[in-house]
Amino acid sequence: MADLRVAGLHKRRVPGHIAAMYFASDNTGPVHPKILDALTRANEGYAHAYGDDALTAAVTRRVREVFEAPEAQVHLVATGTAANSLLLATHTTPWQTIFCSDIAHIHMDELNAPEFFSGGAKLSLVPSEDGVMPPEALRARIEQEETRDLHGPSRGPVSLTQVTEVGTVYQMPALHDVVGVAKDFGLPVHMDGARFANALVKLGCTPAEMTWKAGVDMVSFGGTKNGLMGVEAAIIFEPSKGREFEYRRKRGAHLFSKHRYLAAQMLAYLEDDLWLQMARAANAACHRLAEGLRAAPGVNLMYRPHANIIFARLPRGTHRRLFEAGAEYHLWDGALDGGPEEEPIAARFVCDWSATDENTDRFLALL
Ligand SMILES: *Cc1c(COP(=O)(O)O)cnc(C)c1O
Repeated sequence: MADLRVAGLHKRRVPGHIAAMYFASDNTGPVHPKILDALTRANEGYAHAYGDDALTAAVTRRVREVFEAPEAQVHLVATGTAANSLLLATHTTPWQTIFCSDIAHIHMDELNAPEFFSGGAKLSLVPSEDGVMPPEALRARIEQEETRDLHGPSRGPVSLTQVTEVGTVYQMPALHDVVGVAKDFGLPVHMDGARFANALVKLGCTPAEMTWKAGVDMVSFGGTKNGLMGVEAAIIFEPSKGREFEYRRKRGAHLFSKHRYLAAQMLAYLEDDLWLQMARAANAACHRLAEGLRAAPGVNLMYRPHANIIFARLPRGTHRRLFEAGAEYHLWDGALDGGPEEEPIAARFVCDWSATDENTDRFLALL
């Protein structure tokens, strides 16, 4: 993972040009038409503001049904960073530390928002393997903290990402193991589910099984990367924490006044299994791409692609050829210029719900 940490994201853009062979990210894709229809339907007359509207009440009921959690506290925000930071802040004191993997989005991609919203809690990093935290590594890291009494951080929540940042998924036994370690120390568990649906359809389990039944206390339930315009649900299974989250959301400037437009999206997402259909489509597109990459000479997959993200190494010259033909994706640990053409360079490929077979096949034919 060293490469990823050091090099960060390299972008190559042709201004104003969206390629047909587009694997850059799942938040660059379109909004599903059913979501836009739901927004149009919600756009009728007046509704109470700040979440005091019928659609918000309906979405709360629906999320509770989907998660088989009648007491769950459900709050909508517009970004995953807000969901993660506000949930973690609600479960962390400023003198605690949050345990997460060394490639966690909360560590690498949220500009210290979890530290900011928690009022100064720190993150303790656990070396990841294949994107997941090995339970022994988490245990060792937890044991290192809270040994310095007044002088060092106390132990706070454990945060895990499902689908992980490298496109792998915690299988159920691994999920139970890692949550079990947190529970051994009495620590709450947060799940960053920016790609929750993609993991769920991969595992074929229920939302309850992947969360509270496994001991997860709170979830950032993603929607934006899976066909919404911009809504994530922050779900807390322990009802007493809901009020504090609401204070923090308002103070964090994430209480939307025209809340019905957030609710309408999330409600339509959960209607007729649209969220699962979109995740299945994204995963299937990624599977097709992964098979093609695997079969191509000179290409090496870096992790097992379980969901809708692939990391692979391709020769620099191959990247150049693909980019010149109009493909779009991110190089991950090197630049197009300044080295031998045969040198392998890592790249990330992401498929969203709208990815087409034609798109993938054109790319693979070029490859
Ligand atoms: C995209 C993503 C988020 C949310 O990011 P925002 O840009 O704040 O919406 C959170 N966690 C993971 C793992 C992500 O990939």
